[in-house]
Amino acid sequence: MELLEGTVRPYAWGSRTHIAALLGEPVPSPHPEAELWLGAHHDAPSRLVERTGGSTLLQALAEDPDGTFGAGRAERWQGRFPFLLKVLAADEPLSLQTHPSAEQAAAGFAREESTGVARSAPERNYRDPLPKPEILCALEEFHALAGFRDASVTVRLLRALDVDCLAHHTELLAAQPDPDGLRALFTTWITLPQRTVDQLVPALLDACVRLAKTPGSPGAHGGEFERDVRTLLDLGERYPGDAGVLAALLLNRVVLAEGECLFQPAGSPHAYLSGCGIELMANSDNVLRAGLTPKHVDVPELLRILDFRCGPPPAIQPRVEGPRAVFTAPSEHFRLVRLDVGPDDGPVDLGIDGPRIVLVVRGDAELRAGGGRTVALTRGRAVWAPAADGAVTVEAGPGRALVFAAGDGWTADANSGGADIGDGDIGSVGGAD
Ligand SMILES: [Zn+2]
Repeated sequence: MELLEGTVRPYAWGSRTHIAALLGEPVPSPHPEAELWLGAHHDAPSRLVERTGGSTLLQALAEDPDGTFGAGRAERWQGRFPFLLKVLAADEPLSLQTHPSAEQAAAGFAREESTGVARSAPERNYRDPLPKPEILCALEEFHALAGFRDASVTVRLLRALDVDCLAHHTELLAAQPDPDGLRALFTTWITLPQRTVDQLVPALLDACVRLAKTPGSPGAHGGEFERDVRTLLDLGERYPGDAGVLAALLLNRVVLAEGECLFQPAGSPHAYLSGCGIELMANSDNVLRAGLTPKHVDVPELLRILDFRCGPPPAIQPRVEGPRAVFTAPSEHFRLVRLDVGPDDGPVDLGIDGPRIVLVVRGDAELRAGGGRTVALTRGRAVWAPAADGAVTVEAGPGRALVFAAGDGWTADANSGGADIGDGDIGSVGGAD
């Protein structure tokens, strides 16, 4: 077990308070701080600060794969660290996006390698051959768009908005309120000529204002679509000529309470809007953007990857065992444990083996590894615990501590062969609307 220091990513949508406060640095920070990365990603491997010479987790893995990964896992992961743990702090919306499945990523990567597109090129979709499922566990109220909303509910929203130039589209979806109808409507919107988008988005925003101002309407205060309408107005102001504003009409507007967890399976469209959370994902860069961004949008590939099944947003219900909540996604790449430990709980086992990263989010905690090493961590500090360390326990003190531990979701008795499936507990988010 060793102290681990992550890397702050300064994307423009980041917060100037959350990550700085977590790390004990001056607030507000001089620049937006969007993400704190803890892992062995090639772009920003975390540092093992107790080693001389500024060694990284990436180097440690290369030097001793068997000790870091443990029996079975070294072979499963072939030297590539399976997950990336992040603290995500959004003051502004991120792009609307989705991620490929394992099969889609492998095929897409091979295709782009064969056509010779540089891996760093802006039009490159597949920078590695891996899927990128992800989960987000809220540290505070967290807002997002995630998954296609039940199409019949979307028809109700469109009818309430009553936009003349969308009337035809509304009736098309009303005639087929299912995944095929959503695919047809989304495809229409995402392929519209720019001049049409430039007419439709302002007309939609006018309708949102009208609905928000009409007392008792579904878009007004207390109405069924109040949050949806406000979000459309916000996105439309930021991206007035972006067909992603239309696409956002089709998605679930989600509010997570602290401790709730959203899952993004392959093909699920999502846009994080605001808030701070712990994000855990497969260690991949494969993103297909669908809008709300000035970046490259590859429409044909996006349409191939998007999953148009509709319903409540995909969430992970934790298995709660005393102070420990275990979030098991249907992915071999990661598993997240949230430990809300009181001073009277005594040492609490992390409950995961293999390679682990542990981060203290609130309070002070003492970690003890099987080998006997003890590390006292204050808020914002993290450790790396290789498989060889055996069981790791967390003890809070003097007050309560909130601690997150990330490991992989691999189990020795699961079928080998790399299928990205498992026994995840999928449900829906209570605060979705
Ligand atoms: Zn994503």
